[in-house]
Amino acid sequence: MTAKLILGKDVSEQIYGELRQRIESLRSKGIVPGLAVVLVGEDPASQVYVRMKGRKCEELGMHSVTIVMPESTTQDALLAKVAELNADPSIHGFLIQLPLPAHIDEKAVINAVDPSKDVDCFHPYNVGKMLIGEPEFLPATPAGVQQMLVRSGVDIRGKHVVVVGRSNIVGKPMAAMMMQKGPGADSTVTVVHSRTEGLADITRQADILIVAIGKAGFVTADMVKDGAVVVDVGTNRVADPSAKNGSRLVGDVDFETVKEKASMITPVPGGVGPMTICMLMANAVSAAERRAGI
Ligand code: NDP
Repeated sequence: MTAKLILGKDVSEQIYGELRQRIESLRSKGIVPGLAVVLVGEDPASQVYVRMKGRKCEELGMHSVTIVMPESTTQDALLAKVAELNADPSIHGFLIQLPLPAHIDEKAVINAVDPSKDVDCFHPYNVGKMLIGEPEFLPATPAGVQQMLVRSGVDIRGKHVVVVGRSNIVGKPMAAMMMQKGPGADSTVTVVHSRTEGLADITRQADILIVAIGKAGFVTADMVKDGAVVVDVGTNRVADPSAKNGSRLVGDVDFETVKEKASMITPVPGGVGPMTICMLMANAVSAAERRAGI
């Protein structure tokens, strides 16, 4: 059996179609959803992400602002920019692209963002709201994974979801979302990480295996139950002399062997990747609707 592919492009196109309608409806009321992205420094990967976010906003008919600040920006100057964006009525949501230069306290910056504009869902208020099952925003990558599962018709309720990885941006919120009451969740969740003993015994029990650790090809076929749904969040660049630029992107799952055992699988690239920006846009549209009382 070869697994059916769950493609982020297909799922995100569906969601973008819905977002376009919601944006159109806001625009007909004179509201243009506005998203700002703040980039400090010149990290090349961050520059690519920020450009992609700006382009997507414009494509969708949203108001897009990109603020680039030099690497030497002080924490006070960044906090002043955050205060400015908090107060700007044309901006419904904004984020500060991470990582920040080492001299800036990331937590202090995240805590300064107005929770009603926190489209990354990193502010402790929004993390808490998500945990108690009253989310105002959902963190983009785990929300994207949940949408991929739901829209691919994966049966989640009552199933055993194993999340590999416990970071604040992927693993932990993913686990919290899948254990909530209600549609697209209601599963039994186990989280495993680098200190877990007998990790493969646990992953082999997963009906749905979600992997986010950042280790190329870590999950091999012997760690996967027959017929499991496998979601690979990992993005790792590995050397490949046959590739044009000498490297290629691979996931945390050994795709070639695992796809023969799983019932559904997300490839890398083309799987979870496109979902993150899509769910960020969804958060910005929700923020604009909430402010408009919709
Ligand atoms: P972090 O480095 O913040 O966290 C990695 C987690 O994996 C940690 O909890 C760590 O455990 C765990 N881990 C590391 N090694 C092992 C191991 N050998 N066995 C079990 N657990 C292990 O990473 P992120 O969560 O930020 O990202 C994970 C991956 O997802 C990365 O490849 C990243 O690039 C990708 N990613 C992709 C996105 C997308 O849009 N597609 C978005 C965000 C991330 P411990 O806590 O014990 O150290």
